[in-house]
Amino acid sequence: MRATCEAVVVGAGPYGLSVAAHLNARGVNIRVFGECMSFWERNMPRGMCLRSPWEASQLSDPAKSLTLDAFQVAIGARLTRPVPLERFIAYGEWFQSRAVPNLEQQKVIDVTKDSEGFRVALENGEVVRCRRVIIAGGIGPFAVRPRQFVDLPLELASHSSEQRDLSRFRGKRVVVIGGGQSALESAALLHECQSDVEMVIRDGTVQWTWQRPWLHTFRPVGAILYAWPDVGPAFISHAVARPNLYRLLPRWLQDSWRVKAARPNGVGWLRPRLRDVTVSTGLAVRSATACGNQVEIKLSDGTHERVDHVLMATGYRVDLKKYEYLSESLLSGLRTTEGFPVLGTGFESSVPGLHFLGAPAAWSYGPLMRFVAGADFAARAVALSIVSVRRTRVGLPIAGALHAHRVAVPRGPEGA
Ligand SMILES: Cc1cc2nc3c(=O)[nH]c(=O)nc-3n(C[C@H](O)[C@H](O)[C@H](O)COP(=O)(O)OP(=O)(O)OC[C@H]3O[C@@H](n4cnc5c(N)ncnc54)[C@H](O)[C@@H]3O)c2cc1C
Repeated sequence: MRATCEAVVVGAGPYGLSVAAHLNARGVNIRVFGECMSFWERNMPRGMCLRSPWEASQLSDPAKSLTLDAFQVAIGARLTRPVPLERFIAYGEWFQSRAVPNLEQQKVIDVTKDSEGFRVALENGEVVRCRRVIIAGGIGPFAVRPRQFVDLPLELASHSSEQRDLSRFRGKRVVVIGGGQSALESAALLHECQSDVEMVIRDGTVQWTWQRPWLHTFRPVGAILYAWPDVGPAFISHAVARPNLYRLLPRWLQDSWRVKAARPNGVGWLRPRLRDVTVSTGLAVRSATACGNQVEIKLSDGTHERVDHVLMATGYRVDLKKYEYLSESLLSGLRTTEGFPVLGTGFESSVPGLHFLGAPAAWSYGPLMRFVAGADFAARAVALSIVSVRRTRVGLPIAGALHAHRVAVPRGPEGA
């Protein structure tokens, strides 16, 4: 079966849902594929809370009417802060039901391009023809597994994204590798479910943010130091919050600030929960060997220990080749740097009509794109560029076959 539409959105996380909400509201004929909030549902630990502040944890619709505040009103309950993971997933599902009712729970297995446009193949055998593809496929495929652990089976060593329920390690000895929020929060959750947990952190010290919350929340001071999404160190945060400004900075400064903003750290509210957890800093794991039901790890200080499980909270490194559904021919035509696509206006890549949102856009639009907070900017930019190109492109072969449709979404001043 073959069908046509103007654009396909791949992904139904914060970025996919937000861009789809904007395109729906503008009457662009789109199809949206993915499982709603699946990465948050399946690849983050139960009991986790969002690290991003309230204002920076909103999905984006043109009317700004589907906010976390509106969600609270809709469910008749006040959400605690930091926002619990389960509540954020429910918020995403609520947003989807209102702004993206046309979401199809289908997996995209292949994206190619020929002279007629893009060809998007779905797992159910359907092939969709479209003029544009917007990839919002998330960071799941980019999980970093250090080479010391690659030969170990999943029961002995797993990436943090592979553990949904940490209570399965009750009574077990677990080593958590890494010093970022994910590592620190996993260690706290493991400790709270009676695991014997130790953290091994390469850096000499744990970096904390939000140690003095008033520096972020007391307006006269907080507004000078940090912009609303609160991504990146003091002052730098203001440039990060303005992707169009960030793009104008010299490349060396963009790179330096991108690294600084992504440096592993933990949010201050986690600190008391780690009081009784052993945190070994300035240490690395040299080797790891399976010994029956356990792993023997050798540390850089020459000591050995046996543990039941190694949890690698070792982050994510963008590498477009890991989006398996992008065909070889598409990948070979893409201009990339350090695994990121190089994007122009409207998040469009060097392959005309192919857009990337979320973490892959961070090289071009800055570290804001690694967080939910970047979804508003990205969704507006993509929608604007598609609508303005559409206005100037009348009479191209595929255009006659396309019938714009409009999905009813709450309207506001900027709606439709
Ligand atoms: C432990 C952890 C905690 C985090 N906490 C925060 C936080 O508090 N605040 C914050 O701003 N950010 C946080 N992040 C970062 C967060 O992951 C991103 O901000 C966010 O997920 C980006 O959204 P996205 O839409 O790009 O991707 P995702 O949310 O990962 O969504 C990807 C979507 O793509 C779909 N998909 C993938 N492959 C296919 C395919 N082949 N076909 C169809 N659909 C497909 C999936 O079903 C899914 O719907 C956290 C990350 C981790 C790992």
